[in-house]
Amino acid sequence: MKRLIVLAFMAQSMFVIAQSNSDIYDIIDTVSEERLRQDVKTLANFGTRHTLSDTLSNTRGIGAARRWIKTQFEDISKACDDCLDVFYQKDLVKKGTNQRIVKDVMVVNVVAIQRGTKYPNRFIIMSGDIDSRVSDPNDFTSDSPGANDNATGMAGAIEAARVLSKYQFENSIIYVGLSGEEQGLFGGQGLAKYAIDNDWDIIGVLNNDMIGNITGVDGVIDNRTFRIFSEPVPPTETEQQRKARRFYGGEVDGISRQLARYVHKTVKSYMPEMNPMMVYRLDRFGRGGHHRPFNDVGFPGIRIMEAHENYTQQHQDIRTENGMDYGDTFEHVNFAYTKKLIAVNAITMASLASAPPAPTTVEIGGIVEPSAKLKWNTVEGAKGYKIYWRDTTSPTWDNSRYVGNVTEFTLKGIVIDNFYFGVASVGDDGFESVVVFPNKIMR
Ligand SMILES: [Zn+2]
Repeated sequence: MKRLIVLAFMAQSMFVIAQSNSDIYDIIDTVSEERLRQDVKTLANFGTRHTLSDTLSNTRGIGAARRWIKTQFEDISKACDDCLDVFYQKDLVKKGTNQRIVKDVMVVNVVAIQRGTKYPNRFIIMSGDIDSRVSDPNDFTSDSPGANDNATGMAGAIEAARVLSKYQFENSIIYVGLSGEEQGLFGGQGLAKYAIDNDWDIIGVLNNDMIGNITGVDGVIDNRTFRIFSEPVPPTETEQQRKARRFYGGEVDGISRQLARYVHKTVKSYMPEMNPMMVYRLDRFGRGGHHRPFNDVGFPGIRIMEAHENYTQQHQDIRTENGMDYGDTFEHVNFAYTKKLIAVNAITMASLASAPPAPTTVEIGGIVEPSAKLKWNTVEGAKGYKIYWRDTTSPTWDNSRYVGNVTEFTLKGIVIDNFYFGVASVGDDGFESVVVFPNKIMR
């Protein structure tokens, strides 16, 4: 990672790792609670951002909202010498596609790409949602501020772009507002297809959906814990891969799970005041989010979300009933907390965007031997590699060893049966790729 202009020469410094660490702390400090507050207010004030709402007005409806979002990205780009490529990605969804599409609608995402200096076609993606809804999912005219769900995620993607556009990264970063979420995850489907059609190499998708509520419906107040949802293994795996897991393991080690662990580790390293809570499931029980369409086609993706939800403030008509106020309104959002979660996104993206690609092939061996052996392919741009291992019951990669610039290594005295293993690439300035779980057996 290079800071534009001011710190460009620092990349040559002897103290590269310390320097890159201090950039990460600067990124955390630069995320602005005040700008998040203003942007969530602006988004809530479009009245409704329902996917099927008015697109002609400049003050109300999803058309006005997406034009405002595009203008924000364009203004950010102007301030960094046109460092963002900003465009609409859209698909027509026909009436009757499902019960929530009651008329033909153009589902429009707003995309901003910050091109990587070394790997322009490798992308780390941060998403929020543009659209909102009230009690009836097909009511596209009533007031639907969607302040927490999901103006927080949308404003967060814009704020992350403001902060990270002051730096240059080796990999590309995409900040995106997705639409059509509440009608059936259409915006995510559209962008996932666009990614395949354009041969994007996706490092991961960080989907932010509801990141501003700290007072749970159960009365618990918690401004430190947040959830990272990840599915165990991709739905696109082959029957052969599924069978191999019975004998070699990997039930909780899919690509999205490794991304979740990466977020967890990054937060524990740089934001020790936070409590990242990995949840071992695709999403909440029976509920959906915009990382899923990416997972559906085999891309790694996770959902970042508050720990304590308040259901009286989600998908509700604004009303008072038996003395209780319902509705997803601005005053319920805790912006100090949202700022923390945007910092979580920003430092994860800065780290991944600064890291070399992960190895693609990792072999493991050591059957009936007292040592585990690992072997992987050379990654261009890696300074070396780090082997990780953990107890089979541990959720996190608790042990590691940097082994330098080699492509095979024997962990003497470490019995393969008793641990899970993985390998990450390490770049010149110490930033690491996600960990790759072995995908080949050495005999
Ligand atoms: Zn929702």
